[in-house]
Amino acid sequence: MTYPWPGGARAAVCLTLDLDGESPYLWRSRDARGPAVGELEQRRYGPRRGIENLLAMMDGLHLRATIFVPGWIAAEYPAQVAEAHRRGHEIALHGWCHEPPTSLTDDELRATLGRAIQTIEGITGERPAGYRSPSWDMTAGVFPVLRSLDIGYYSSLMGDDRPYEVDGVVEIPVDWATDDAPYYRYVGGDPRPPAHTGPVRDGWAAEIAAAQAYGTLCMITVHPWLSGRPARVAVLEELLAPVVADPGLCTPTVRELAEHHRGRTGRTVSAGQLGRPAHD
Ligand SMILES: [Zn+2]
Repeated sequence: MTYPWPGGARAAVCLTLDLDGESPYLWRSRDARGPAVGELEQRRYGPRRGIENLLAMMDGLHLRATIFVPGWIAAEYPAQVAEAHRRGHEIALHGWCHEPPTSLTDDELRATLGRAIQTIEGITGERPAGYRSPSWDMTAGVFPVLRSLDIGYYSSLMGDDRPYEVDGVVEIPVDWATDDAPYYRYVGGDPRPPAHTGPVRDGWAAEIAAAQAYGTLCMITVHPWLSGRPARVAVLEELLAPVVADPGLCTPTVRELAEHHRGRTGRTVSAGQLGRPAHD
């Protein structure tokens, strides 16, 4: 069935940046004795340098992205978050210090997100409208918490290739195939080296072409500490320039796509179906 994309487009391409910086490492190593400075610095490349490289590339294409930012990172790097917002990009939630929801009680999730909302709103003057869970980890308890905080969309699940609804929250789905982490994530001691840019160029070009052919969403997820490196930014620009120039494709922010979807018919997963097979 054809999905009615904004503006009558054949398909949609969303560019999203997960500005994690060092927060996943800090959460993972919270009980460790001393920090591994090498990994901290590698990750700090994202907010320190990578985000600016990506913002410049997007300026050149007149493309707006959604940037998911842990609250702790926003507090640590407020100038970068303010600048991204000033240039027209959407700033959305990504936990406080990149805590996966499976490691938190519902009350802890509500408290960490409430703190992140306050922090981001204090920097941008705008309340974040959506949430991407760290590592795309989730529990069935996430959705009532999002509704209680008036967070209107979630972008972490892979149950469809177009917007749908899960327990009363609009889901704008993601895909590991168009996430840069499986290609580029490498910290010292990992068993395989990071991929070159060639596999990303070829793989993502095929994903974009298939989205056009099937009328689906291509959700691209990049991390500034990985894809903010110059050669990788150049490949992203090469991939996205024809997308922006194609009048048959739309490139909304995730919030815009969620607002477009609200009230439309589509796949709906109820609270009762979470955690057990749906037969539809
Ligand atoms: Zn993340």
